[in-house]
Amino acid sequence: MTLKMPNSMDECIYFSNRDIGTGNVTAWVYRKVCPKCKKAKMGKPVVKGKVKTRATEYTCPQCGFTEEKQEHEESLTLEAVYTCPKCGKEGESTGEYKRKSFQGVPSYLVTCQHCKESIPITKKLKVPKNKKKKGASTVVNPDLGSD
Ligand SMILES: [Zn+2]
Ligand SMILES: [Zn+2]
Repeated sequence: MTLKMPNSMDECIYFSNRDIGTGNVTAWVYRKVCPKCKKAKMGKPVVKGKVKTRATEYTCPQCGFTEEKQEHEESLTLEAVYTCPKCGKEGESTGEYKRKSFQGVPSYLVTCQHCKESIPITKKLKVPKNKKKKGASTVVNPDLGSD
């Protein structure tokens, strides 16, 4: 497998690199070619020359085909090159462009091609003061008691 790193951020809807322990990872997600007209790559809607980054859909600039954000993103592939923090080897893998919980932190996950270790690309966030989420359907640890 040989991944091609993007030449420009414009080719991607996601790009990130970071150190993970003794390793590091660079990950990106290419824009998807419009499945309808196949003439353009989809992205967040552009209004008056400005990208609506908070839009909840992706749209084709050519034909106007629109896909809901979650559905669109889950159809994409995350590509990553890394130095594995566990085995120290360099590799490249692909994963789902969908955050999963990794040690409690929402992360995109790729699997080291050498040692099968999960390499998380954690969401960059400020640590919330109150970690409790109301109505979240996470598994409650019974050792923590109720509240
Ligand atoms: Zn289109
Ligand atoms: Zn490894």
